[in-house]
Amino acid sequence: MEPPKAGVKRVEMREPKAGPRDYLVKTLEVGIDGTDQEIARGEYGTPPPGERYLTLGHEALARVLEAPRGGTLETGDLVNPTVRRGCGICKPCKTEQSDFCFTGLFKERGIKGLHGFMSPLFVETEEYLVKVPLDISEVGVLTEPASIAVKAIHQVLKIQERMPWREVSGLEEKRALVAGSGSLGLLATFLLRSLGAEVITMDRSPDESPKAKLIERIGAHHLNSRELDPLVLAEDFDGFDIILEATGAARVPFHLTPALATNGIMVLLGVPGKTVTVQVEASEIVKDMVLENQVIFGCVNSNAGHFREAHRYLRRFLEDYPRQLREVISHRHPWQEYEVAFDEAGPTVIKHALVWGED
Ligand code: BGC
Ligand code: ZN
Repeated sequence: MEPPKAGVKRVEMREPKAGPRDYLVKTLEVGIDGTDQEIARGEYGTPPPGERYLTLGHEALARVLEAPRGGTLETGDLVNPTVRRGCGICKPCKTEQSDFCFTGLFKERGIKGLHGFMSPLFVETEEYLVKVPLDISEVGVLTEPASIAVKAIHQVLKIQERMPWREVSGLEEKRALVAGSGSLGLLATFLLRSLGAEVITMDRSPDESPKAKLIERIGAHHLNSRELDPLVLAEDFDGFDIILEATGAARVPFHLTPALATNGIMVLLGVPGKTVTVQVEASEIVKDMVLENQVIFGCVNSNAGHFREAHRYLRRFLEDYPRQLREVISHRHPWQEYEVAFDEAGPTVIKHALVWGED
């Protein structure tokens, strides 16, 4: 695409050349998420410096075609590339945690200043390639969004450590609300369930929709927020211990704060596109947060460690809910049909993936 113009198109580009430390990697599948849709609408995204186009795609499953001398990955290995490339200046970036970059000078493949993976080939150095275990290859394209959920829950657990009297270390007996049933909301639902939380996942689809059914089939509850306001629901108990915002709609977290329990934690994951202004009862929100020790925090990106953890969880989900997990990739298209994949939405669409294949 050509930021800030809206619309995606096919463009001929020069084949990437691998430098002495680079792997030449072949794209197999690339998932499309809300960020890609936002970039495609011209609301987000920056091309590499001095270039006109930005190649989209940051959720990739790929195969090593050529390995550099001395590399530990081998030709034929399946890999997931990570998204962010650190600034090289700050401590987090120097210690493989560019997801916490201080300077803001990081780049993100397919999003900010670097081309993404929606091309037949790309080059990358080893530190940004995570080997994919063969037994999860069929859902390997979900690693990146799963890694975002993994980081978010990891942060929630860290914050929860401020309550040392707790007898359980996981999320047993915890009540969680996931706002949004895109692939991130659904993967977070799988994760929270497998850590023992009771989960309600809300969206605006009817209870008969395929997404709603999927949510129920992994042991969570579906809430159609058009029919029942989660605030009304939260009144029946003492609120949610964890709220995970994955809609990207800026008004949602402000609406949901009264649904937080005492000592509750809300994590914001959605990145809003357009400017939104809302009126809120600021005094009520601040009062509750203070008097009830609440935490609201934002969480972005993920690093190679989260990718590895995501692989372990994807394996676990494949064992526990094989059909449901596969259904998260609701539509696979040959890459030439990218226009359909970017245009088509609706209650049956969870995630589109573009396929390059093994030729
Ligand atoms: C990606 C993250 C990225 C964020 C902000 C998300 O869609 O999954 O890796 O940091 O967008 O650009
Ligand atoms: Zn940095």
